[in-house]
Parts: sequence; structure tokens; C-alpha cells
Amino acid sequence: VKWDTARGWHEAELKPYGPFILDPASAVLHYGQEIFEGLKAYRQPDGSIRAFRPDANAERFRTSARRLAMPELPDELFLGSLRELVDVDNRWVPTKQGDALYLRPFMIATEAGLGVNSPAGEYVYSLIASPAGSYFTGGVRPVSVWLSTEYVRAAPGGTGSAKCGGNYAASFLAQAQAVEQGCDQVVWLDAIERAWVEEMGGMNLFFVFGSGAEAKVVTPELSGSLLPGITRDSLLRLASDFGHKVEERRISTDEWEKATASGELTEVFACGTAAVITPVGRVKHANGEFTIGGGEPGELTMKLRAELTGIQEGTRPDPHGWMYELA
Ligand code: PMP
Repeated sequence: VKWDTARGWHEAELKPYGPFILDPASAVLHYGQEIFEGLKAYRQPDGSIRAFRPDANAERFRTSARRLAMPELPDELFLGSLRELVDVDNRWVPTKQGDALYLRPFMIATEAGLGVNSPAGEYVYSLIASPAGSYFTGGVRPVSVWLSTEYVRAAPGGTGSAKCGGNYAASFLAQAQAVEQGCDQVVWLDAIERAWVEEMGGMNLFFVFGSGAEAKVVTPELSGSLLPGITRDSLLRLASDFGHKVEERRISTDEWEKATASGELTEVFACGTAAVITPVGRVKHANGEFTIGGGEPGELTMKLRAELTGIQEGTRPDPHGWMYELA
């Protein structure tokens, strides 16, 4: 679908996957005016294909558009594009547990012009569908993380809470550094004090204090520089449905390490569309490292994981009405 100042949204078309033609002076290629979303749809036991909370992705897409001075795509167009494409791809069959149809809506500024003084006047919204396997093959395995104090992903007033390509471009170097340190993922800290936990490269973080029915669930508050994950929001509700106390508040790396040492902090996990829930087993920083829960996935981590994947795959009830029929 295209947008320009004179016509608004127009010219929706459905095409086989293939290359785009872009003017070399397109604003997106020079100034990175681009936003995207990522969501998954699952084949249900009744044969339908349902997406997990696409209305929340539509809303976040509008929020990202506002921050990047781009036109907002109406929710009906966003949801309609998902339905139309998935209906065409309805031959897709999952072969393994966790198989999903990954949906990637995105919008780019296509107006040609090398001037940088105002937002572009022409945009294209597009959607890609691609089969995706479960993030984990051979069981859920805790990941190790590197606490980055050298680089930050986002700063107050910046684009951290928008889902735009530039945030990811800025994160590759720190992610490479995490791998050099022998870790799977980077954990981002706040830009000012480099003390407060924000999120992982593509996932939000949760901390479990205590155990059993008394366990309390803590996740960093939406500081304005971390992405408001839809999985994060869903897990806050599920943990509270299970009767756990949930808190959105600041948590420092110091508290993380000390509470792990004292045994109060029992589990840490990361969550997002791609991996759903990933236990965090080992933490490394410039001055040392420590492990959580003996490096094994925690009890509440796995309970929340089973509940959420059950809702998504249609094998457990969906009390919040999160699943949306696409085809
Ligand atoms: N943080 C970042 C930086 C991400 O890219 C993602 C993935 N969209 C998330 C968190 C998790 O968000 P969601 O649960 O909506 O996938």
C-alpha cells in the first residue's frame, strides 16, 4: 500500500515475493526512516490460522510511525493486510511443534530527494510472510548474557520505544561484543547511569524473586527507551492470573547480582515474539560473572512458557481473547 500527501493510503496490491524498485535517493536509504513489526500466526487444532494479538502490533506500529514522523496506518488496513496475505498462503502446514508463520509488516519512506530538513512525503507499507521454526531445537536452553556498559541502545527522548530499523543497526556492534565475550546475547542498560536494566537485543527481561506460590515477578518499567513488548505485556497478565505479585519497576545490575547471590532472585527469563520465553542462565560483565538457578530453566519460567505457547497453539483456553483469526 502506498501513501502520499495528496492521496493518503492508496493502491493496495498483492504480489508474489520479489525485489522492490527504489529510487537511489529514497529517504529510507539515507535517513533510515523505516519502522517494522514482527508477529506470529499459528495453525490451530480446528484448522484455522490465528495470530497472537495483532491488534497490539497495529497499535505499536502507529506509535512507531508517529515517532518517526511517518503517516499512521489505520488498524483496519494493518489487520486486513495480514488476513489477505495469510489467506493466500493458506497451504502452509506446520511440521513440528512451535512452527509458525512469521509476519513482518514494515513501512519505508520512498520519496526521492537528498534534503534532510523535513519528513518525506511518500511512503510504502508492505508485509512479508515467512514460515519460522521454533527458536529452540532440542529443548529449551538457558542463554548467557553480556551486560553492555560501553554502548547503549537508546537514550531518553530517542527512538528506543519505537520499532525502527536504526535501533537495530546501532545494536549490532554490542551484540558482536557479547559473542566475543562468549555470551549469546547483549543486555542493554540505561544511557545515563549505565546501572539500570533495560532489555535484551530483541527481548524484554523478567526477574523472579522467591519461589512457588509466593514468587514475585519483576520487569523493568517502560522507561521510554525500551520497547514495550507484547509478550512482556501478556506475561504480566498471565503471572497475575496465576496469583503472583507483579511489579514494573527499575532494577539495577547491582540488585540483580546481589539478589542472585543471596538466593532471593531465583529465575530470570527473556521474552519476545521470536523465542517466546528464554531462560537466562549466566550473566557476564566487565568485572566478573555469575549464574542463576544453577544454569537450569526455572519453574515459573517454564510454567509461563507452557501457558503462553498453549494459548498460541490453541491447546489451552484463551481467556483474554488474544488469538485473532486470519484464515
Ligand atoms: N525488545 C526489542 C528490542 C525487540 O526487538 C523485541 C521484539 N519485537 C522485543 C523487545 C519483544 O517484543 P515482542 O514481545 O512484542 O516481540
